[in-house]
Amino acid sequence: MKKLCYSTPMHDTVVQVGEPVLREKAREVPLASIPSKEIQDILARMVAVLEGERDGAALAAPQIGVPLRIFILAERVFGKTGSDTKNAGQKNMVFINPTIIKRSKKKGTLEEGCLSVRGKCGSITRSLNVTVEAYNEKGEKFSRGAGGLLAQAFQHECDHLDGTLFIDKAKEVWKIE
Ligand code: ZN
Repeated sequence: MKKLCYSTPMHDTVVQVGEPVLREKAREVPLASIPSKEIQDILARMVAVLEGERDGAALAAPQIGVPLRIFILAERVFGKTGSDTKNAGQKNMVFINPTIIKRSKKKGTLEEGCLSVRGKCGSITRSLNVTVEAYNEKGEKFSRGAGGLLAQAFQHECDHLDGTLFIDKAKEVWKIE
């Protein structure tokens, strides 16, 4: 997900809409394989790509061409929300096999963009608060509740893992320069 609704120069490493991998239902990561070099390398690649995107808030594995249920959240995002100050010093957060286990009935319409949909922005209705259960990069299970931008990011990234993009759900989509 993009943090703000403005365009960035083309970046080679983020897969763009039109590529089939963005439309696949991503596969679960076998828990025993989380410590493996293969998975750790994928995580490192995701971190590198996300850190190269100045307006990137989060990135899902299909966005680097890997159809696995993983997303990462940039440190700069969760470090900024008031309720998340205890994690402000933490590095990028890793979510493996995430599921949204709770979502608020209360919804809001928010502006959203995506690193895989360059040059477009949209308005989308999402739950204002959600709780995600996932495994971290060490294979430890955790759950994390969030509101605001974080809740929006969780929903956006979980959608990616089911092959859904914000342009499928947006009430309105517009071009940005
Ligand atoms: Zn996205």
